Amino acid sequence: MKSCFNHPEKKAHSICHGCGKDYCELCLDEGKEFYYCRNPECQILLKKELYTDVLPANTICPNCKSGLELSEDERISGKVHCPECEALIDFKVNPPKVLNRENYVELLSSLNQGDIGLIKSILGNSNIDYYVFGENFLSVDPLIQPARFYVNESQEEEAKELLKDFKLHIWGTSKNQYD
Ligand SMILES: [Zn+2]
Ligand SMILES: [Zn+2]
Ligand SMILES: [Zn+2]
Repeated sequence: MKSCFNHPEKKAHSICHGCGKDYCELCLDEGKEFYYCRNPECQILLKKELYTDVLPANTICPNCKSGLELSEDERISGKVHCPECEALIDFKVNPPKVLNRENYVELLSSLNQGDIGLIKSILGNSNIDYYVFGENFLSVDPLIQPARFYVNESQEEEAKELLKDFKLHIWGTSKNQYD
């Protein structure tokens, strides 16, 4: 009998589709098709499985009318930064709303895909209003353009507090915008 990775005394219910380890029922979340454990990386995969059809992969910028290709994260978050007119658009409301970028402050930037995923899950799990700009460039042009995290200025302190410990971890690989 296989046992749970977290609870050696419990019988494993299934494997996590993300990391492939065995877990008990308590340690797993059910997606549409697969089970996922609570690791931040695996939770991101779960969210992708659950929410990919929230927004289409291609849409039109309501501000400048140019065609937009959305990343998976943009489709999940609903917040899109138009590379043409630089507008930030919230597609979660109908009709989509062009947000006032002045209300958002740059929190930090990172070139590391693993860190980016982790920061997203930390902010997302705490319901921080954030968006990422430049992430689409990573796949095309790695190490040239960092992904930049912006948070709603009303939640800036809260976000900094959440990432306080994390900041040490990314030291050296990322440029921080605050001390
Ligand atoms: Zn996992
Ligand atoms: Zn368990
Ligand atoms: Zn635009």
